[in-house]
Amino acid sequence: MKNEKIPYKIYLQESEMPKSWYNMRADMKKKPAPLLNPGTKEPMKAEELSAVFCDELVAQELDDTTPYIEIPEEIRGFYKMYRPSPLVRAYCLEEKLGTPAKIYYKFEGNNTSGSHKLNSAIAQAYYAKKQGLKGVTTETGAGQWGTALSMACSYFGLDCKVFMVKCSYEQKPFRREVMRTYGATVTPSPSETTNIGKKILAEHPGTTGSLGCAISEAVEVAVGSEGYRYVLGSVLNQVLLHQSVIGLETKTALDKYGIKPDMIIGCAGGGSNLGGLIAPFMGEKLRGEADYRIIAVEPASCPSFTRGIYAYDFCDTGMVCPLAKMYTLGSDFIPSANHAGGLRYHGMSSTLSELYDQKLMEAVSVKQTDVFEAAEYFARVEGILPAPESSHAIRVAIDEALKCKATGEEKTIVFGLTGTGYFDMVAYEKFHDGEMSDTIPTDEDLAVARAKLPNMD
Ligand SMILES: *Cc1c(COP(=O)(O)O)cnc(C)c1O
Repeated sequence: MKNEKIPYKIYLQESEMPKSWYNMRADMKKKPAPLLNPGTKEPMKAEELSAVFCDELVAQELDDTTPYIEIPEEIRGFYKMYRPSPLVRAYCLEEKLGTPAKIYYKFEGNNTSGSHKLNSAIAQAYYAKKQGLKGVTTETGAGQWGTALSMACSYFGLDCKVFMVKCSYEQKPFRREVMRTYGATVTPSPSETTNIGKKILAEHPGTTGSLGCAISEAVEVAVGSEGYRYVLGSVLNQVLLHQSVIGLETKTALDKYGIKPDMIIGCAGGGSNLGGLIAPFMGEKLRGEADYRIIAVEPASCPSFTRGIYAYDFCDTGMVCPLAKMYTLGSDFIPSANHAGGLRYHGMSSTLSELYDQKLMEAVSVKQTDVFEAAEYFARVEGILPAPESSHAIRVAIDEALKCKATGEEKTIVFGLTGTGYFDMVAYEKFHDGEMSDTIPTDEDLAVARAKLPNMD
């Protein structure tokens, strides 16, 4: 097969789709640090986590030894509605750039929610249903996770309460309507409907909200409502596990043609798509079987990896969630209202944080206007209108391809194209009208939020 011309799109047969998720933690010699109880600072026990999360998801969260976890039949059935997703050879982009690099992207935008988030939403809804729950609560930033969860909940007949970060709620009324179409209740956050929301509003009047605030509100409602649990669309180990379906499909597709990537690039908000895309490749790297350059791309306005510190922090602004050790800007950090809502989280997956700390992956931050320049270029060349989040990966893939042009190296680049940007046209409009700015936090801004990290002595 090796010398055969590679098609524009490498699709897999249904029979080639993964039957198990892959858990990178099993192959890590030094494991990610455990979640801690914020009161006792002891590792969270399964019983404590079960008050907030579904039982089976708690088991997945805490399991850092089982490499392969079977995907239940019902979830595999749902996956077949919109997967396998194509791995696209970006021939048009390569030609336009005049680069000798070979560029591939794994496109996760081919479902109504428009992103990879459905891969974990359907798994989390399945386990909630299996436990006999009435419904789930969650937060959403840009709205992709809320949409994905609404779809998953309506499929399994579960109630879905979504707290949507206020700036997105206002910027993206159509996102909200898609969620309501799938039966979800959507509340702008911070809201007056929770104690923590009232407190945040009193302290930061006029705030446009943050994922951290919305998480606190959703957890408060889940814990206080009989038959409800809280679900989260990123950051957690269980979410990275579910998202490994992206990487497993990518690896199978590349292996079919004997392609070995030199670098794998993905945008990083909480780290779930990147953690999923790199999973089987990182597995090989951890086992010493192969080596890859792995690059996380984050916004310069919310630079958790590149300017954060590796420490225990609260996962939410209200400080009700467990403490996680991660690269963080501090749970009090509220990023400027940039247009990549899905990348506005103050922290980062503890698994990716540990891998980054072990120097098994790299990170770069990019400015919003540079990201939209790449997004528009990509839309015109490859046809797909990318989400602003995904366009962070596009930016760096293009930059790396241009470096290859300068040196003449024929590197193979794989990047994650996490979703489409149809609900982000206000952002594109700002870009076209020259009204988009790059707000980058100063060292003083970061110091203020960092000062509020929990004291771990
Ligand atoms: C949510 C989202 C992201 C970022 O989340 P991760 O958990 O870091 O993957 C990236 N792209 C899109 C389209 C998203 O919706």
